[in-house]
Amino acid sequence: MTQKHIISKNLEIIKNNIEKACIKANRKIEDIEIIGVTKTTDAERINILKELGITTFGENKAQELLEKYNIIDNVSWHFIGNLQTNKVKYIIDKVSLIHSVNSLKLLEEINKRAFNNNINMPVLLEINIANEPSKCGLLEKDLPYIIENIEKFKNITLNGLMCVAPFVENPEQNAQYFRKMRKLFVDIQQKNKDNIYMKYLSMGMTNDYQIAIEEGSNMIRIGTGIFGKRNY
Ligand SMILES: *Cc1c(COP(=O)(O)O)cnc(C)c1O
Repeated sequence: MTQKHIISKNLEIIKNNIEKACIKANRKIEDIEIIGVTKTTDAERINILKELGITTFGENKAQELLEKYNIIDNVSWHFIGNLQTNKVKYIIDKVSLIHSVNSLKLLEEINKRAFNNNINMPVLLEINIANEPSKCGLLEKDLPYIIENIEKFKNITLNGLMCVAPFVENPEQNAQYFRKMRKLFVDIQQKNKDNIYMKYLSMGMTNDYQIAIEEGSNMIRIGTGIFGKRNY
């Protein structure tokens, strides 16, 4: 099979599964956005996915994002990985959403660079929802302090939350974490702050996106499910 066949078949499977999850949870398919996670994937395969109608891509490394940004036109890029403050200046004018904001320091830097570029940067806060020592993201207990201070960052809009759930054998095990995320999302939504506009609940990857959708995700980040196993 050609790459095009493989990718289009994989995408079909994912869309079918999204539909099933939506029916089960009584949700609308149009409300679920697929982010194609393109890390380690070459431009040829990314262009195939683009032709199939997926035009928002997620990258977790600044350097890799910049390389692809320059050769693939008319798509949107999301930053989804651990972002070092010294890399913010390279990506600030190239991404339409940063999913992985995990500290006040990073918010400060994004705000500063957004101001310099005369833009407003939409961000999500990444939550380490299962308190895993190996994972990035804010602990739930640190969230109130961030929310308390968010209005200081005039060039940032808080658009939602993101998590990477534990890697588990049975994805049902992650339902509890997705449910917690949803609760945090709703709580923050009720805060009355100028630059909070909760739109995106970014959760669910190849292994667990159906459960994530059942629990309220509206943005799923799919890599291997579309492109196949990564070689690293
Ligand atoms: C790699 C990655 C994904 C995609 O993971 P798959 O299991 O390949 O679908 C999603 N989110 C983040 C933050 C990632 O780094």
